[in-house]
Amino acid sequence: MGSETQRLHVVLFPLMAAGHMIPTLDIAKLFAAQYVKTTIVTTPLNAPFFINPLLSYKNIGPTIDVEIIPFPSKEAGLPEGVENFDQFTSDEMSLQFLKATELLQEPLVQLLEKLNPKPSCLVADMLLPFATDIASKFNIPRLVFHGSCCFALCAMEAVMKYEPHKAVLDDYEEFVIPHLPHEIKITKMKLNEEFRRDNPNMEWVQVLGRALESEIKSFGVIVNSFYELEPDYADYYRKVMGRKAWQIGPVSLCNREKESMFRRGKDSSIDEHECLKWLDSKEAHSVIYISFGSLTEVSPAQLHEIAKGLEASEQNFIWVVRRNKNKEEIEEWLPEGFEERIQGKGLIIRGWAPQVLILDHEAVGGFVTHCGWNSTLEGISCGVPMVTWPAFAEQFYIEKLVTEVLKTGIEVGAKEWNRTVECKVKWEEVKEVVRRLMVEEEGVEIRSKANKLKEKARKAIEEGGSSCSELCSLIEELSNYNYNA
Ligand code: UDP
Repeated sequence: MGSETQRLHVVLFPLMAAGHMIPTLDIAKLFAAQYVKTTIVTTPLNAPFFINPLLSYKNIGPTIDVEIIPFPSKEAGLPEGVENFDQFTSDEMSLQFLKATELLQEPLVQLLEKLNPKPSCLVADMLLPFATDIASKFNIPRLVFHGSCCFALCAMEAVMKYEPHKAVLDDYEEFVIPHLPHEIKITKMKLNEEFRRDNPNMEWVQVLGRALESEIKSFGVIVNSFYELEPDYADYYRKVMGRKAWQIGPVSLCNREKESMFRRGKDSSIDEHECLKWLDSKEAHSVIYISFGSLTEVSPAQLHEIAKGLEASEQNFIWVVRRNKNKEEIEEWLPEGFEERIQGKGLIIRGWAPQVLILDHEAVGGFVTHCGWNSTLEGISCGVPMVTWPAFAEQFYIEKLVTEVLKTGIEVGAKEWNRTVECKVKWEEVKEVVRRLMVEEEGVEIRSKANKLKEKARKAIEEGGSSCSELCSLIEELSNYNYNA
C-alpha cells in the first residue's frame, strides 16, 4: 500500500456508546497502519474514550486525529453532561438521545469542510442515518459501521422483513427465522418489546427502518468479524441481502501490547499490574470472567444469586460489577461475608475492567457474557468458551450464533428481552452452568472448538489473512473512487 494510499483521509463518526467507540478506535488503528490518514469525530465528554488510549498508542503507531464537535444537550432538552448511551436506562430515553444526535449534522458538516486533507470517506454508525446524505454532499462514500456480526444482521433483517413472530400467539413459543442458512428458532420474548407490543407507532422499528434505508444508499458496510467465523452468513449478507461488506475483524486484535489492551475504553478500575499479578497466580483455564458489558444493568437480586452461584461453583472468578445509580443497594445484596470468603479465589472489579487484557490471559478459561458483539468476538479471539446470558439489543441472536452455530458456549437460559437483568436465574443454575463449562467433560469439547476459532481469528488479521485482505481491498476501492463524479 504505502505512499499510494497517502492521500486517503478516512473520517470515523461513531455512535456515543462504548460498544461502538471502542471498535471504532481499533478500526482507525487498522486504517492508520495501512498509511491512511484517520480522524475520529466525537463530542466533548466522549473524547477521553479516544484521547486516553491514544496517549500510549502514539509512541508505537501512526497519528490518529480526534476532532471534537459540541453536543447540543440544551437544544435537545437533555440535561447538561449527558452525551453517552450508558447514561440511559430505557428505550424512550435512548430514542430521545438519538433525536439529539440529529442536531450534530450542522457541526459535522462544518468540521468536514475545514478538514485538511479533505475527507475521502465517512464511516458512520448505522444509527446516524443522516451521514449518508452528508457524505453525498461532499461527494465522498459513506460506509456504515453496525458494531455487529453478519449473523445478527441477517437474522434481524429477516425478522423485520418476514415478521415471523406475527404468526405466533404465545410469547414464549419458538418460531423459525425464515430463510437463514441454519434453522434458528427464537421467541417473541427475545425480541425488542416493540415487536411484541405490535404498536403501530413502533418508534424503534421506524428508527431501524430509516437506518436501513440510509444503509442501502451507502457505499457499503464495515463488519467487525472475519469470514471464516460465519461464512454462511457473510455470503448470505452479500448475495441474498445484497450488501457490499468488508469483514475486517476481529479489530480488537490490533492491540498487541499489554498497554493498549489495558487502555481500551474507560479508565480501568483496577491497576494493570495488580490485575496481571492476580491472574498470573492462577492455573491455566481456571478462572471464569463475568461481565455484562457497558450498558446492561443487573438487578441487585440477580447480583446476589450470581454471587452465591459463583461461590458454590468453587471456581476462581473475576466479576465485573458496573457502577450504577443503585450502587449502595447492590452492595447490600452481596451475601454476608462474601468478600472475605472469596479472598484469593474471586476478584470483583467495580466499574471498568481491562476486558481484553483479562480475556487474553491464559488463566482465563470461561466467560459469562451478555453477548454484546464486541465482548463475544473478544472472547472468540482469545479462545475462551462462553456461558451466554443475553439481555437486550441483538444479544439473543448472538447467543444463537455462539451456542447453535459455533457451538462454543452454553446458554444460562435467559428468556426475556430486558435492559435490566431481573432476577430470573437462581444461584443453583449459575453454579451448574459454570461447572458444566469449567469442570465437566462437556466443557472440554467446547474449549477445543473455541481454540480452533481463536487460531482462525488470528490468521484472519495477519498479512494474507481474510480480514487483512478485505481491508486492503476496501482501501483500494476507496483509492479508485471517482471523487469528481
Ligand atoms: N468493556 C471493557 N470493560 C468493561 C466493560 C466493557 O473493556 O468493564 C468493553 C468490552 O471489552 C467491549 C465493550 O466494552 O469492547 C462492550 O461492548 P459490547 O458490544 O460487548 O457490549 P455493550 O456494552 O455494547 O452492551
